[in-house]
Amino acid sequence: MTPGGPHARIAERLAAVRQRIAEACLRTGRPPGAVRLVAVSKTWGADAIRTACAAGQIDFGENRVQEALGKQAETADLPLRWHLIGPLQSNKARKVPGAFDCFHALDRLELLERLEAAAPVGGVPLSLFVQVDLAGEATKSGARVGDVRPLLARAATCQRVQVTGLMLLPPYEPDPEHVRPWFARLRELRDTLLAEGVPPAQLQELSMGMSHDFEIAVQEGATMVRVGSAIFGSRP
Ligand SMILES: *Cc1c(COP(=O)(O)O)cnc(C)c1O
Repeated sequence: MTPGGPHARIAERLAAVRQRIAEACLRTGRPPGAVRLVAVSKTWGADAIRTACAAGQIDFGENRVQEALGKQAETADLPLRWHLIGPLQSNKARKVPGAFDCFHALDRLELLERLEAAAPVGGVPLSLFVQVDLAGEATKSGARVGDVRPLLARAATCQRVQVTGLMLLPPYEPDPEHVRPWFARLRELRDTLLAEGVPPAQLQELSMGMSHDFEIAVQEGATMVRVGSAIFGSRP
């Protein structure tokens, strides 16, 4: 990319986000490598992804299957890991295993069954995060707290997909400090489930925190943050 081109600032912004994650880790006594940064490239083109990859970014998040498949084809020469972070219609489930490493928005049994049925036998199991709707927001996807346990129990018997953590898309608050209690509640839910005997392998990851609030999410225990606009700029 030419200096001053449309993507001139991506490397700089990526470095700043990484620095802020490392500082948030240090402040809370976590090792700086404890958090994986998923660069949310939705709406941006393959050229933006290339620029970020050249700056060392490997994990990319997309919220639409079709859009992601197009960019994957255009960047097939790069060693990228793809995260599907948006809600998924059941009839598109068959496109996900093989194309993505992680799906962050598992919210219902039917979708789990479809993903398990679609995943190849003997491949690297697709990693799933249960999206939890802690606030009971009717407009958002996500499993109600009461539906998380049955999802985890069924997933424990799956052969080709595995739940490895929980995901949160909290209500928007202008002041990111006001989001902190939601992040803390997801961590507490994780701890409760562990105490109840849910296999730790299903609860390794907490996917929470976006451009607006990722440092607070890291302080509250996020292991993956999904950051878009702070890296790529405001979406068109
Ligand atoms: C778009 C999106 C993000 C990133 O949002 P930014 O505010 O641009 O960082 C994170 N998670 C999900 C589920 C998203 O849809």
